Amino acid sequence: MAYTINDRRASALGGQSKDRSRSAITTIVWHYSAVARSVRKFITGHEEYWKNTLGWDRGGYHFYIDADGNIWQNYDYERITWGVLNSNGYTVHISVEAGSGTDYSQAQIDAREWLTRKIMSDLNIPASKVKGHWEVYNNSACPGYTKAQMDAWRARLAQSAAAATSEPIAPIRVPVNYNKMVAYPGYSIDSKPWGEPGLVNWGKTDDIIGNTISIYEENGSGEYVNGVKVGWIDKRALIDIPARVSVSYNVIIKTGGYSIDSRPWGEPGFANWVTTDAFVGQTVPVIEESASGDYINTSLGWIDKRAVEKEPAVVSSTLHLPAGQTWIVYPENGPYKAGNVIAVEQACSCLILGGKGQGLLVVDLEGSVGRVAIRYDESKGATIEKKYA
Ligand SMILES: [Zn+2]
Repeated sequence: MAYTINDRRASALGGQSKDRSRSAITTIVWHYSAVARSVRKFITGHEEYWKNTLGWDRGGYHFYIDADGNIWQNYDYERITWGVLNSNGYTVHISVEAGSGTDYSQAQIDAREWLTRKIMSDLNIPASKVKGHWEVYNNSACPGYTKAQMDAWRARLAQSAAAATSEPIAPIRVPVNYNKMVAYPGYSIDSKPWGEPGLVNWGKTDDIIGNTISIYEENGSGEYVNGVKVGWIDKRALIDIPARVSVSYNVIIKTGGYSIDSRPWGEPGFANWVTTDAFVGQTVPVIEESASGDYINTSLGWIDKRAVEKEPAVVSSTLHLPAGQTWIVYPENGPYKAGNVIAVEQACSCLILGGKGQGLLVVDLEGSVGRVAIRYDESKGATIEKKYA
């Protein structure tokens, strides 16, 4: 592919000057503009910032590649520019309009490679002397590549252009193993890390808010993660999985107007089921709390702790049976099949001695029946009275 170098040396901030000889230049430095490519800022906008905000008398870069991949020349090689702190006497700078290491378009990457090769040829600079900004002076993540990625670019530049184009750099993948929760909408789910050529969009995080995903690889910059049966997602869409604390106690619902939800209120993906209005006065078991302790998971769902009161310790429970009903009783220790039917003619109360689960209570009915497991049935008028500490 043929490239044009658009010449803006006559209008570049601070103009031209013979600050050094060409032979003083040993190193080509890559940069990004640190502004998202989608913003489509241009070199003139950067110059305004350098001049008006930073008070610079000249720009940062000899060459600039805009959001569309067009190449612009700002300065002669002999001009010293403000590209890297304390390191500009021996460096020639290329900046690309991109906000991160994964924001470059393929057109920009191709133009940068062509331009880098041209400068290497013009100034007789080897590929080993092509550096990322942070490699020259480590005060920035610019140009957004790791050492391994820069090494891969240098290896490519060390080959002839023809050989290099037949052998594209394999994108870096880092194996990992952890879980995250999808918390934020508006991020795309793709077949590759965002910005890599050939990616296919599969969906948006909006549809999987609250889901836990199992992450098994990251891209080289660590900004994108690949989830099992999900795809590549921007890490900013994810949070740590909210912690839970296992507990075991009962609460009495005291206050109406609180929501009962599928997750602690406000947590990503929570859904409202009902409110506490219909359950005031009921005792429900609690199995876990949110990490903050503000929300409890009950047999009804997640409730704000302010809606409930912890049930005091029960010292005794009494079973009240109404007159004139029949009940099924079993031997105290089972089997709980084919029990005996007994009739209770007068209302009676007896201490509950234990529980056998599945609605079976151990009581001593005295007389010929004695100690049995009785099937407790509220619909027939049986009630339990608790005495608290
Ligand atoms: Zn830089």
